[in-house]
Amino acid sequence: MVQIANRPRTQEHSMPVSAVPFTRTHICEEARQAVQQVLGSGWVTSGQQVIEFEREFAEHVGARRAIAVSSCTAALELALRALQLPAGSRVLMSTITFCGAASAIVHAGLQPVLADVDPVTAMPSPVTVAAAARAVGGVQAMVVVHLGGLPTQVEEMAEAAGITLDHVVEDAAHALGTAVGDRVVGTISRATCFSFYATKNLAIGEGGMLTTEDDELADAVGRARLHGMSKDAWRRYLPGGGWRYDVEGDGLKANMTDVQAAIGRAQLRRFEVTQARRAEVAARYDSLIVDIPGLTLPLRPMSGTHAWHLYAVRVRPNFGVGRDDLITALSERGIGTSVHFIPVHRLTWYSHICLRAPGGFPGAESVFDQTLSLPMDQVLTDEDIRTVCTALAEIGASR
Ligand SMILES: *Cc1c(COP(=O)(O)O)cnc(C)c1O
Repeated sequence: MVQIANRPRTQEHSMPVSAVPFTRTHICEEARQAVQQVLGSGWVTSGQQVIEFEREFAEHVGARRAIAVSSCTAALELALRALQLPAGSRVLMSTITFCGAASAIVHAGLQPVLADVDPVTAMPSPVTVAAAARAVGGVQAMVVVHLGGLPTQVEEMAEAAGITLDHVVEDAAHALGTAVGDRVVGTISRATCFSFYATKNLAIGEGGMLTTEDDELADAVGRARLHGMSKDAWRRYLPGGGWRYDVEGDGLKANMTDVQAAIGRAQLRRFEVTQARRAEVAARYDSLIVDIPGLTLPLRPMSGTHAWHLYAVRVRPNFGVGRDDLITALSERGIGTSVHFIPVHRLTWYSHICLRAPGGFPGAESVFDQTLSLPMDQVLTDEDIRTVCTALAEIGASR
């Protein structure tokens, strides 16, 4: 029986074997120990760990307040609800993003309006934002995404949409570590929503955080994340906490647990180190891919900081192999890739319910045909990067 402990993990408990997976969730040793402590402490749901994580996270991004929730999608919905817009108000968003932003808008009782993107940045430009807003007779709010971690000019977008920053919510699921000019993402708009989903650059597995400078909004979201209750169980069970509570408004069940918060705190302490490695990975990719004909390097910001959540190249016609065939060829060599994102207007449900400008989404179609996200995480080795780039060069040269 002793030998069993030394056997490699069985297939059902480990990642599928591949030469270079698209991404791996790395939970640091300190996080594992912190989880053990929480599990043995007698309190596992929202409590002291969540309070500490919120304080440390707010300090990290330089925000006044941080509210921990169950996901970035929940944070987006809670932020949009907290704007207290009339039901059915129009909310602009990019068509090239994760569909969670659209579902958050719908669940908040609002109407998503899709904007096309600039084919170079893969994000809306002032021109596409203004066109989409004009086509629907104006918008009341906007969700701004920093795609892959590349900063976008939030203020310019708000101006183009004809709204103030008070009515902008940032989807920062890729943007922990992003700065727009010298402004760290987390303090720019009314509310900023982060994700700690398994693939994100600060991974817990599941979880989200909302940051804001607005105490009233923070307090409202703090209640609305847990059924609208005036006092959570942790506070009620503290000595002298008192058992009474009230519900004065609608809420979700979207609190974060202490187990998640303990992982998040430990991961946050290592964040500068893991981000530095991501930047190194991006630079190494750049240096090898620059010589491969038909592949375009990801854009680097003219000012500010890229968080390198994703490393996405464009596969141009002169590469010789189309993007989809390249994905297949890489996969046959055990190299995982992904596409960010299938445009929201191409998803059946959202194609029916989202408003849009006439004339389609030419920018988004061109990005969607060519974009390819290569393996990216902080545990990728230099050898992994060489394996990927050698495969890219060989597959390109084979046609
Ligand atoms: C992952 C992601 C989300 C959703 O995050 P969850 O924490 O899983 O809800 C939202 N927007 C973008 C751009 C994402 O990549």
